[in-house]
Amino acid sequence: MNGARFGGVEAGGAKFVCAVGTGPRDLARVVIATTSPSDTLAQVIEFFRGALKNGPLAAIGVASFGPIDLDPGSPTFGHITSTPKPGWAGADVCGPIRRALQLPIAFETDVNAAALAEYRWGAAQGLDDFLYITVGTGIGGGALVRGAPLHGRSHPEMGHMRIPHDPSADPFPGTCPFHADCLEGLASGFAMERRWGIKAESLPADHPGWLLEGQYLGLGLANLAAVLSPRRIVMGGGVMHNRGLHSRIEENLHQYLNGYIRTPEIVPPLLGDDAGVLGAIALAQRVDETTKARSSHSQVP
Ligand code: ZN
Repeated sequence: MNGARFGGVEAGGAKFVCAVGTGPRDLARVVIATTSPSDTLAQVIEFFRGALKNGPLAAIGVASFGPIDLDPGSPTFGHITSTPKPGWAGADVCGPIRRALQLPIAFETDVNAAALAEYRWGAAQGLDDFLYITVGTGIGGGALVRGAPLHGRSHPEMGHMRIPHDPSADPFPGTCPFHADCLEGLASGFAMERRWGIKAESLPADHPGWLLEGQYLGLGLANLAAVLSPRRIVMGGGVMHNRGLHSRIEENLHQYLNGYIRTPEIVPPLLGDDAGVLGAIALAQRVDETTKARSSHSQVP
């Protein structure tokens, strides 16, 4: 990296984490409470202006909560789109940072960025094809396919896939405001709390809710494995702190795939709560590498 430093912003609904560094060992960071877009982004810009006094930054990566517009041809590229978070629907996250700091900016979903961080420094090193799934208040997923984050017209919304739901066995209607009983509506931390009347982290280890959770997550992963053929699935988030849930999901997945597809292994993340901000740093490194590759190609006669 020739000593170049990078900036990273993990843009979350509750907090923004801003950092400068090159990886897990030298990260200097601040945490900013998420208030209005203008106030929050002003503090982000102030942090990086301060950091720039100590030396240049090669690029900044922004790993954002979503949904977000990742289509470079769209007039709202770099904006958050339809979030229910007050004040943030339609907010331009990238534009103000780019205009103020005049640096290359990379923009990604928080889960795709976390996947990149686990690829570079964590539980998916050396694997070009894997998934990163987080099961917390909501359910999100990022995929690396041949070493690059997967996008279509927009980014994947793995939490909103439909899975079999038998109301006679589980009469809970689901919590998703768009689909009711999609995967997130049935198996997110929020859904567990609504179904059982107690937060997932307080649910006893032998509660039948964990069996159901393992089934729903196993069904979701069976769909993902059939479509994306990952070698490994890294699963994190608050709900995944339950002991034994990783192996229970892996057993269910193995049963649902029934030998037709090789079962990918399911592992916890290695970077923990740092995956988001490290993912933002990894994004900045990627955009810098791409820029350098382009300029060295253009110099070839
Ligand atoms: Zn949904």
